[in-house]
Amino acid sequence: MSDSEVPGTDLLAESEDQSALRQLARDVATREVAPRAHQGDEEGAVPPEVRKALAAADLLRITVGERFGGMGLGDVEASIVLEEIARADVSSAICCQLTFNGPPRGIEHLGPEAMKERWLPAVADGEAIISIGITEPDAGSAVQNMRAALVEDGPGRWRLNAYKNYSTLGDVAQGVLVWCRWPGGEGAKGIGAVIVPTDREGVSVTGRHKGMGIHAATEAELAFDGVEITADDVLLAGDPGSTAAFKVLLSHLNHERCGNASMCIGAAQGALEHAVRYMNERVIGGRPLAELQGLQWKLADMAVQLEGARLLLARAVRLAGPGGTPPPLETALAKTAANLAAKFVCDEAMQIHGGYGYSREYPLERAYRDIRGLCFGAGTVEAQRNFIGLRVAAGGRTGSPGWRGPLG
Ligand SMILES: Cc1cc2nc3c(=O)[nH]c(=O)nc-3n(C[C@H](O)[C@H](O)[C@H](O)COP(=O)(O)OP(=O)(O)OC[C@H]3O[C@@H](n4cnc5c(N)ncnc54)[C@H](O)[C@@H]3O)c2cc1C
Repeated sequence: MSDSEVPGTDLLAESEDQSALRQLARDVATREVAPRAHQGDEEGAVPPEVRKALAAADLLRITVGERFGGMGLGDVEASIVLEEIARADVSSAICCQLTFNGPPRGIEHLGPEAMKERWLPAVADGEAIISIGITEPDAGSAVQNMRAALVEDGPGRWRLNAYKNYSTLGDVAQGVLVWCRWPGGEGAKGIGAVIVPTDREGVSVTGRHKGMGIHAATEAELAFDGVEITADDVLLAGDPGSTAAFKVLLSHLNHERCGNASMCIGAAQGALEHAVRYMNERVIGGRPLAELQGLQWKLADMAVQLEGARLLLARAVRLAGPGGTPPPLETALAKTAANLAAKFVCDEAMQIHGGYGYSREYPLERAYRDIRGLCFGAGTVEAQRNFIGLRVAAGGRTGSPGWRGPLG
């Protein structure tokens, strides 16, 4: 039986178009992204040539609707591209992630027409980035404690006061999605979202995080001091009497979580391939490392984790369907598995490289640092576990046809 005939691989089957997209993304990653990834990491910015190459290959267009100059493709295609770009460099992949699974999705599904026309063509052309402003110094996992708020400023007009930290690429973005509370709301009630151009009066970049990794696509701190907001800026209005808008915004994060998992799987795939190549090249005492069973077992464990996570992700993105959103439980399972698999695989790949794996000379060290940050973004591993645990403890299904509830 050949590999392609192995039963049960339908979840990973790709159409001709999807395979062609994967090949295109891999070519761009190999030719344009990988050779510049070290430079981006050292200099703290994705090289402009990389962003131009992604745009020139139409790789930033894939999820934007055709009406706005995009291709109108879904989560499966987004996942394919993210995996291939992150296999070479996570920071470069984040430019795609913000476009595919960040604010533009919400704008297309929820925003007013003027907002779509203003932002979506520019995003598809690679001329605009919209950062995400959800987290605040005192509101991360417990996002409902946010302080960002609108105050009324006449009919259909508000003023926004907010301080957001950890807004990825917020220092270079042209716009920011800001989650904030409408007047009269409390807790999760009244939370909605606006899109704010970064050149509007009252918006300022107050800092740039110096993180362990993702140096080329780092997070910014953004202040919004009495920024004018009109109806055209409102992505989804908060209702002070209801949590409905907040729940819609949360459900949109499932796109971002699947994208995050895709980047983890891509980076881990790259790390595994580096490890295999090194084991074949490195000869100790006349034998290549590849002949040592102790190291082969490491590869086996890495493959088990990586392939398990890949299948969970494939299920989540395929369940989204055309124009839909990945379901929450399957998404949480996939993100958790992918975050943990990437940590494990990158760590073991480094160990296999011996001291060389620890060196900045090798791309592995960068991947190790970069994927660590992905375990926080889009909801921490613990937040996913809380959600999964609650559902399972309540007798909810885990997505398996064999699940019958407790002792069922
Ligand atoms: C690389 C990177 C990129 C990011 N990009 C963005 C971005 O673009 N936009 C944005 O808005 N934010 C972004 N973030 C912020 C990220 O979403 C938050 O860091 C995350 O939500 C956690 O919030 P916190 O850091 O305040 O940690 P806290 O909420 O203070 O949590 C601290 C620790 O406690 C755990 N914890 C919290 N509550 C519970 C609980 N109930 N049960 C068990 N454990 C719990 C957390 O998992 C964590 O381990 C980014 C972060 C990083 C590191």
